[in-house]
Amino acid sequence: LFHFKIILGKNGVPVAENFRLEQSTIADTIQAGQVRVRTLYLSVDPYMRCRMNEDTGSDYLLPWQLSEVADGGGIGVVEESKHDNLAKGDFVTSFNWPWQTVAILDGSLLQKLVPQLVNGRLSYFLGAAGITGLTALLGIKEKGHVAVGANQTMVVSGAAGACGSLAGQIGRLEGCSRVVGIAGTDEKCSILVQEMGFDAAINYKKGDVAEQLRELCPGGVDVYFDNVGGDISDTVISQMNQNSHIILCGQISQYNKDVPYPPPLPPDIEKIQKERNITRERFLVLNYMDKQEASILQLCQWIQEGKLKVRETVVEGLANIGAAFQSMMNGGNIGKQIVSVSK
Ligand code: NAP
Repeated sequence: LFHFKIILGKNGVPVAENFRLEQSTIADTIQAGQVRVRTLYLSVDPYMRCRMNEDTGSDYLLPWQLSEVADGGGIGVVEESKHDNLAKGDFVTSFNWPWQTVAILDGSLLQKLVPQLVNGRLSYFLGAAGITGLTALLGIKEKGHVAVGANQTMVVSGAAGACGSLAGQIGRLEGCSRVVGIAGTDEKCSILVQEMGFDAAINYKKGDVAEQLRELCPGGVDVYFDNVGGDISDTVISQMNQNSHIILCGQISQYNKDVPYPPPLPPDIEKIQKERNITRERFLVLNYMDKQEASILQLCQWIQEGKLKVRETVVEGLANIGAAFQSMMNGGNIGKQIVSVSK
């Protein structure tokens, strides 16, 4: 089992040592309604940084408790069931899967998975065919104002990450005529262009982002899928058109700092946003769960048709989950960061 050693203060950078691996035993027998599961895959996500604070800053996120088992998105296989709708061998998922190799869970809190929907790639249900894909798709649909034939240019920050790599591709599928990504390495930028169909990508750690953006988006920016906030977003917003739209997906550059969410824009950028009537509404995927089923089917269809290219960075072994979280927060991942716990 995984237990916490410490909870970070508000301005700390997470490190692998925030997590501790412990061995323990679970009950021999399960009760009516319960299932015993073996964990296959666990997800590490940026929001978990907020769960490491005593005050997560969001009413929908509970803080992880010191020395309690952490939890998050997970997938496993049922090994024993006393729940009417679940049988041995079923694949199941939950947003609150404990970071354990095996667990006894309440069957009614689990969703059954259909592996055929993702060509047998079960871990996709934690990424492209799960919350990440939903975030990209619903963010664009609900806040992007993307329309076929409108000749819109979309910019995506955090573009080679789980949400970002899908957002750029979905922006194109939904009708954007030009898609430009911003990411942290040359390798990520070339994957975006060569594999994911982005028109261009900017390595924000190299050269002048504002200048490159002006060259690559000569007609200005109409839709900005913002995963990162901070300086990168200020630069993009400065080049946005009148009546354009920000999809405020996340602000990862600010998560280790003690700032409210969404962080306010600097006064000069806020002035631009107001003068140009740029929308910047809070977006939270969990508010659109009534659209979950239809959206997942859409994502699975695109995956099966090869229209949505999926990348994962997989770390093996529960013992490495803390390191995987730290690595993802520092840009070590391309696409969705997954921890493979057992085969
Ligand atoms: P991800 O993009 O796969 O991983 C995080 C990435 O952020 C890293 O790979 C790194 O890539 C980049 N990054 C880290 N620090 C940065 C910094 N200071 N400046 C710029 N980039 C930085 O993670 P994800 O799960 O797809 O999440 C992406 C964003 O979506 C997060 O902000 C997350 O909170 C948000 N999100 C929102 C919702 C919602 O409902 N609104 C749901 C899910 C996720 P580089 O190498 O490019 O730096």
